[in-house]
Amino acid sequence: MSRPSMSRTAPSSARRMRRVLGVAVAAATGVLTVAAFTHAPQVSAADDTEVSVDEAAYRVCAEAPVDAAGVDSFTVDAPVTGFVEARITASGDWDLAVFDEQDDVVAGSAGFGGREVATGFIDETTELTVQACLLDGEPGSTSVDLTFLELDDDEPTTSSMVEVDTPKRADKERLQQLDLDLTEHAEDDSVTVVLHGEEDVSTLREAGFSYETVVEDLAAESRADRAADEQFAAAVQESDLPSGRTTYRRLFDYEAEMKELVREYPDLVRPLTLDHLTVEGREVHGIEITTDVDDVHDGKPMFLHMGTHHAREWPAAEHTMEWAYELLNGYGDGGEFEELVGDTRTVVVPVINPDGFAISREAATTGSFGQFDYDMKRSNCSISENAPPEYQVGECADNPAGRLRGTDLNRNYGGFWGGPGASPIWSSDTYRGDGPFSEPEVQNVRDFHASRPVTTLISNHTFGNLWLRPPGVAETRPPLEKPLYEALGEKAAAHNGYDNIPSYELYDTTGGTEDWTFWTAGSMGFTPEIGTEGFHPPFEVGVVAEYLGREPAEGAGQGGNSAAYLEVQRATADPQYHSRITGRSPSGHTLTVRKDFMTATSPVVQPDGSVGDPILFPDSVESSYETDGREFSFAVNPSTRPVIAGRWGRDPTGPPQPGMDLENPPGIPEENKDLSFDGPLETTTFTVEDGEYDNAFAEVSVGWGNAETDWDVYVEGPDGEIVGSAATLNDPEEVLLRDPVPGEYTVYIFNYDQADPDNPDDWTGSVDFRGPDPKEIGETEPWILTCTDPSGKVRNVEEVVVDRGESVDVGNACRPSRGEG
Ligand SMILES: [Zn+2]
Repeated sequence: MSRPSMSRTAPSSARRMRRVLGVAVAAATGVLTVAAFTHAPQVSAADDTEVSVDEAAYRVCAEAPVDAAGVDSFTVDAPVTGFVEARITASGDWDLAVFDEQDDVVAGSAGFGGREVATGFIDETTELTVQACLLDGEPGSTSVDLTFLELDDDEPTTSSMVEVDTPKRADKERLQQLDLDLTEHAEDDSVTVVLHGEEDVSTLREAGFSYETVVEDLAAESRADRAADEQFAAAVQESDLPSGRTTYRRLFDYEAEMKELVREYPDLVRPLTLDHLTVEGREVHGIEITTDVDDVHDGKPMFLHMGTHHAREWPAAEHTMEWAYELLNGYGDGGEFEELVGDTRTVVVPVINPDGFAISREAATTGSFGQFDYDMKRSNCSISENAPPEYQVGECADNPAGRLRGTDLNRNYGGFWGGPGASPIWSSDTYRGDGPFSEPEVQNVRDFHASRPVTTLISNHTFGNLWLRPPGVAETRPPLEKPLYEALGEKAAAHNGYDNIPSYELYDTTGGTEDWTFWTAGSMGFTPEIGTEGFHPPFEVGVVAEYLGREPAEGAGQGGNSAAYLEVQRATADPQYHSRITGRSPSGHTLTVRKDFMTATSPVVQPDGSVGDPILFPDSVESSYETDGREFSFAVNPSTRPVIAGRWGRDPTGPPQPGMDLENPPGIPEENKDLSFDGPLETTTFTVEDGEYDNAFAEVSVGWGNAETDWDVYVEGPDGEIVGSAATLNDPEEVLLRDPVPGEYTVYIFNYDQADPDNPDDWTGSVDFRGPDPKEIGETEPWILTCTDPSGKVRNVEEVVVDRGESVDVGNACRPSRGEG
């Protein structure tokens, strides 16, 4: 397969360098082979281009080229067909836009400060206008750093979307090991997968999977979807969304709109820039929303609402942004929204992964077939130190590994990092990163969450109509809060019609957002997988219908995600979902709660499939409250981390059913390497009894004698659906059924391989039943509460243990004796 090749070119010399390369993925081994490869050296613009303004003036810089106060521009002939990148690093609030000859914006950047990175796709035949705008700050001059990359798209790859048959969980696991581009869209018996070219098709075929093609040519579909977007935008002046948007925003639209909201609602909205620059040097922006918004340490419970970790998941950012408008519109209308905005602090970060999003979103703008690779980018822009040296070069848009470069940000969180459902292979779409929290975009979320009282959280994704919560793998077991967590998910899912499930029920994942934000930091979070129509379907479907609850969305007529998010906003204000420390304190003091501890990753899966030790890393969470002399009520998360607090369980309602042997029919079936149900196999049955028994688990075990022999097992439930399987090289093969419904089960047993076919090794089997896991109460952990006076002197340190839903009165928090304040 051949990828688009790019080279860097200076605008003055218009040097043309081409790279010809072929990247083939030997998927099962994760080895990349390079047919031919030359890397173009990075060349910046010959002359840095100066812009100068004598006053600052607020405007939307990307709106149009203008000759006005606070604006300076220059023109340059586009030297290539490919990619343009314009950068400013200055003080004050600068914005940047690049226009083509039709005055359409081809690249833009509108961050809160003076660090702007505008990237986009351009055509060689055009003249570009580069416009810099000073919105705020000291007038003066700065230089625009302008570079170009040539894009050669003459050998496009056809990507398709297919539904792969995975009748049993082991098939899902086997499919994951192929390192293909899996979506979050899965049914009990299938997973939707993106196939990038012929290599992927043969990988899937050679592994013996059957599949049905859902979308023949994703690039063609993408073009049709964008055409539909244009029609929709032309047909309606304004949508019914809170913002009235009619098309997908681009990165600079999000930035400019957030800036506009800060201007429009100075008491309710404040800008937020997260701590770390992205791999490409972008700032990550959001806004905070509440009354008296600048009183950052106000002790209110906080709802962190995030979009687009995965670059191609555009509706995730749209839904997040619309929620900001909904709150602000609703506040003005009074009633419940006014109360919620006052009682909680909402932090909206629409795009966690701006580098990746800009590439995916801008690629589609051109509609170019050859750039489709970029349209489907999932990861961020980092390049693994595990990649071969020839791939550790260039920037995101001109890296020879193309879309394969980068880390899956929703596998990079440090809690449970490195376990199943995240790839250790650098070129995988689910690459977990070089270490726990190795990526700056994920460090951003961690550092923010670790320093503020985030008590509820949403991390939006597309697609699959799912409303996911922890745990990511079944073995972790549900947290103590399971009933509360599940019930809150149920309330939300009643509006969008999504499946309210722990995420392991989709498939195993580790290093996901809630693997740290919930298990370690203690906030209750959900990962919605929005819609069923793809990563960025037509705007009217993926955004308008899903957000408002209209046909064809599953939540049509039930309020959609708008109403689902409202449930989470209500939960943020509801004391049963967080913890509170109350008491008295003199004015102007700072109360801080903090915990320092070590966090463990999963036992780390190695590239060769072996499993190493977990990695331990130092970790902490903290939040602060500034006192005003009155009685205080400080919203915090539970003092004990859910990961050590224990696990949910229940009391048995009766004994488990006695175990039984499986009857082995006479003879031995022929070998059946395809595990085909039409081929030779043996069947036997067992019954799960109704009545006095409480069978929380049934374990079907099939074993034999010779280690070189292999039998495989599938179990079908009373309703005729496959409910479990074990098709590994293990002896015995074991199938664990959770809460098996009463009725007759059928066991299918396949002779996969005989060490000695002339002297075959037959199986023996049994079923054992087990009662429910008991509730497990682990350790209790305190917050360390510190009171610091206005001079910085520590007045009191004490331990406070507080559970979720609990409020603890500490009396005078600044006097150790806790006397009268
Ligand atoms: Zn996603």
